[in-house]
Amino acid sequence: RDVLQRLVDGTDLGDEAWRASVLTGEMAPRFIVQRLWFDRPVAAGSAPFVGTAAYGHLDNVSLVHDLEDGAAQWAERCGGSVVELHAYAVPDDVTDDEVLADLRHQLERLHPELTGCEPVHEEVLVEADCPLAGTDEWAARPGVVTPQPKLVLAGDGVRCELPVALMERAATTGFQAANALLRHWGLPGHELWSVPTRARFPRSLRAARAALRLRERGLATVGRDSSGRGR
Ligand SMILES: Cc1cc2nc3c(=O)[nH]c(=O)nc-3n(C[C@H](O)[C@H](O)[C@H](O)COP(=O)(O)OP(=O)(O)OC[C@H]3O[C@@H](n4cnc5c(N)ncnc54)[C@H](O)[C@@H]3O)c2cc1C
Repeated sequence: RDVLQRLVDGTDLGDEAWRASVLTGEMAPRFIVQRLWFDRPVAAGSAPFVGTAAYGHLDNVSLVHDLEDGAAQWAERCGGSVVELHAYAVPDDVTDDEVLADLRHQLERLHPELTGCEPVHEEVLVEADCPLAGTDEWAARPGVVTPQPKLVLAGDGVRCELPVALMERAATTGFQAANALLRHWGLPGHELWSVPTRARFPRSLRAARAALRLRERGLATVGRDSSGRGR
């Protein structure tokens, strides 16, 4: 999205409102990815991917040798393991080194068998190029179709009314963008499938909401009495 902003900034593409919707988007705080090659295996039966909470800066751990052919071959040849640690939305007042030290500490909590094992190779990626999914008004974000008929947008920072995010939103808006261009040229596009975006039984939903409103106002009680009968 920062690249899109740089491309749009200073041009007369679209109209002013659209340019403003593109230019006001913010980027998320930086993320850090650390990939470590160990000459020691992880414990047998370890999960290939673990999402974590309350493990310091660590958000997840992937055993890359369980997921990728090249890493699997390396681990097999060396009797080792390839482990990737992710830290998202790193606060500005923490240094990369502090985060990396914490990631290592958290890894040893999850995989004590790697305690004291020095990696034979390490790669670190630090970037801040992800669009922020913040609390700004969703409807004000730029969507796939733009005021410029032949210009369409796709990516995870682009508004899409289907319940998708991240890679799925990037792929979905990619299809929608292609469909918009194909429509423009009078060609059929590709059908997109998603989960329902409306209630299957809208009347029941409306009735339940009305009952909830009445209960909140103290005008009625919705629930069951001690005998289990509805009241
Ligand atoms: C560490 C990390 C872990 C993630 N894990 C997950 C996950 O588990 N599940 C999930 O769904 N999503 C995940 N995501 C998010 C996912 O990667 C993104 O949602 C997705 O890649 C967004 O796709 P995109 O096409 O919008 O942007 P990108 O994938 O960033 O693609 C943009 C492309 O544009 C290219 N580019 C940049 N500037 C220019 C230029 N000037 N000219 C030409 N090309 C340019 C870039 O090289 C890049 O290839 C993760 C992201 C990160 C950073």
